[in-house]
Amino acid sequence: MSKIAVFPGSFDPITKGHESVIRRAKPLFDTIIVAIGENSKKNGYFPMENRIGWIRTVFADDPIIRIETYAGLTVDYCRNVGAKYILRGLRTAADFEFERSIGQMNKTMFPELETVFLLCASEYAALSSSIVREIHRNGGDISQFVPAGVDP
Ligand code: ADP
Repeated sequence: MSKIAVFPGSFDPITKGHESVIRRAKPLFDTIIVAIGENSKKNGYFPMENRIGWIRTVFADDPIIRIETYAGLTVDYCRNVGAKYILRGLRTAADFEFERSIGQMNKTMFPELETVFLLCASEYAALSSSIVREIHRNGGDISQFVPAGVDP
């Protein structure tokens, strides 16, 4: 049976930390769907088309990586696409606490679903999309924090 994982997030924008998690997870799954959540409460900083386009550029020659958007519950989206795995990255103890409750709630709603965590590579432990947005908003150079091809 094909192992499909969903990597859900805002990817606003994709960072080298996200890219590293996706590349390192590739040997574990047949397909990884990078799923950009459309949050009803916030529009995001970068336009959705750009966020999608950048991820497509980064994984252009990689047939096992798919990029999609979704609205609603992540567990419902996983059911719809036939995914039994959610992929998430862990940077800090705060990430762990947050992910633990979401992962356990998701498991209650969809018992066959497993959340698979990859530890963040140490060089990206301080890297977050929110800090990258803050640097960009204030006119700083974000190029060293985002994959090649991401050019806001
Ligand atoms: P969300 O809005 O769900 O926090 P993000 O786009 O910020 O979405 O992150 C998506 C996933 O990527 C989360 O599992 C997050 O922990 C992980 N992640 C974010 N930044 C990094 C990083 N620097 N290294 C590893 N994983 C990361």
